[in-house]
Formats: sequence, structure tokens, C-alpha cells
Amino acid sequence: MAILKALTERSGNQCELCAATDTLSVYDVPPSDGADSDKAVLVCATCAAQIADTDNMDGNHWRCLNDAMWSQVPAVQVMAFRQLNMLVNNGQTWAQDLLDMLYLDEETQAWADLVVAKVAAEQGEACYDELGVKLSAGDNVYIIKDLDVKGSSLVAKRGTTVRGISLTNNPEHIEGRVDGQRIVIISKYVRKV
Ligand SMILES: [Zn+2]
Repeated sequence: MAILKALTERSGNQCELCAATDTLSVYDVPPSDGADSDKAVLVCATCAAQIADTDNMDGNHWRCLNDAMWSQVPAVQVMAFRQLNMLVNNGQTWAQDLLDMLYLDEETQAWADLVVAKVAAEQGEACYDELGVKLSAGDNVYIIKDLDVKGSSLVAKRGTTVRGISLTNNPEHIEGRVDGQRIVIISKYVRKV
């Protein structure tokens, strides 16, 4: 209970990630044995559920990191850094812009990297197109079905060639430029030229 009290005071009794005030609980930022309020953040039920289920991240919810990442609390900075990395892996390109701005001191960065490095290693598998042909950075591909581009009215048309793709941390996603816009494309919807 001492930790909950310390976090409630530190946060002003609100979620330290999204500022919600309902159903707050202590989240121990891994790796932590749960005995230290400096290694924990106060989170709401939505954030707690989202942290636990990284396959179904709600990009709109996590826009809250836009504010949270500027927290002076290292544990909050670490959570912002890790969640932004997860979001990038989930194809949320805006998260990369925030990550580029997020500066952590050496000690905090080392802590943040502990888990991110593990995720990157697990996801370090190769990336394949629809036919199972391995894709590399710089490859040219074409899109095999019309794709709606998230967050815009752009439709990447079937048959569009995308030149000079980049790989991402997620083997299911590649990045490329369509109609002058840099977008994330699901690798199984392309074919290598
Ligand atoms: Zn929250």
C-alpha cells in the first residue's frame, strides 16, 4: 500500500500515461520486484489492459504518450519509450516521430532498452512477400490488393509498384512511398518485382 500511496501523491491521483482518473492501479515496470515506487507507474484500467495486450494496441488511446513522454519520472519515460516502440511495430508511424523526439538519460535508456531489445530479438525474423519470397530493404514490390491507408483517404491501388522499400522491426510490415506518402504496408499483400 505504501507504493500506491507514493504513486498517488506523485501523479496527483491520475493515470501517469493518459491522465484518466478512474480505476487506478500500480504497474511495476519490468524488470521490477514490485518493492519500489520509483520502478512503478500508476495506470488506469485502459492503459493496464493495453499494456498487457500488445497485439491489439489502440493507436488513438496511446496518443496520450504525446504528453506522458515529457514526464520527469523515469518510470513513466521508460513506459512511454517502450509503448512507442510497440506502436511502431504495430505500424503506427506517428509513434516514430515521438520516439525521435524522446530523449532519455543514459541510465533510463538502459532500463528502457532491457525489454525493447528482447522484443526486437524475438521479432528479428525475416520478412516475406505473399509468395514467401524473402524481402530485403531496397527491394521493389507491387501491391496485390487495394489497401486503405490508415489515417488518410489514400487508397494504395492494387498493382502499384513501391520502389526501394524499407523493413521495420515487425516482419509483417514493410514501409514504402505511395503517391509521395510514406506508408506501412502489410508484407503479405505485396509481391517482389
Ligand atoms: Zn491510462
